[in-house]
Amino acid sequence: MWDWRQSGLKSGMADRFWETKRLDEMTDAEWESLCDGCGKCCLVLLVDEETGGVFETDVACRLYDPEARRCGDYANRLARVPDCVRVTPENAGALHWMPRTCAYGRLARGEGLPDWHPLLTGDPKSTARAGAAASKNLLSEADIAPEDLESRIVIERPGRPKT
Ligand code: SF4
Ligand code: SF4
Repeated sequence: MWDWRQSGLKSGMADRFWETKRLDEMTDAEWESLCDGCGKCCLVLLVDEETGGVFETDVACRLYDPEARRCGDYANRLARVPDCVRVTPENAGALHWMPRTCAYGRLARGEGLPDWHPLLTGDPKSTARAGAAASKNLLSEADIAPEDLESRIVIERPGRPKT
């Protein structure tokens, strides 16, 4: 979860670094600016152990702020939420549960950014306008018992494309 406006980077950057650099060549600011702010990696997911299917719920991580679509404590997220996964150049292509639209996975798969990505539009709201962001109408996992999560399933998350 990142707001590219805080990164010091400008949208529509002339050098379009995401097209010229590998993920492991990017600066920290460039890397963070790839996040489109969709919030979908902060939803509680359930996995069908038989089929491997991944299901989105309308429940979010206890640190997530649905209104802002941001982590409530990004700097300390890994210490505060042990199962929060840090996306890296090494794992970006392997996190099968991430949304297909996530820029990290897309670039790792050689797909490029979607045309609504804030780095291309200059507008951080373009992710939501494209229908690619998480709903703002979410429960917090702090307020729901684990045994009730199954009843909160909203949709099956599409799997990774076959490579
Ligand atoms: S799924 Fe990807 S693009 Fe969306 S908030 Fe998470 S890291 Fe950012
Ligand atoms: S701690 Fe929770 S809200 Fe913050 S980035 Fe991780 S999953 Fe998202």
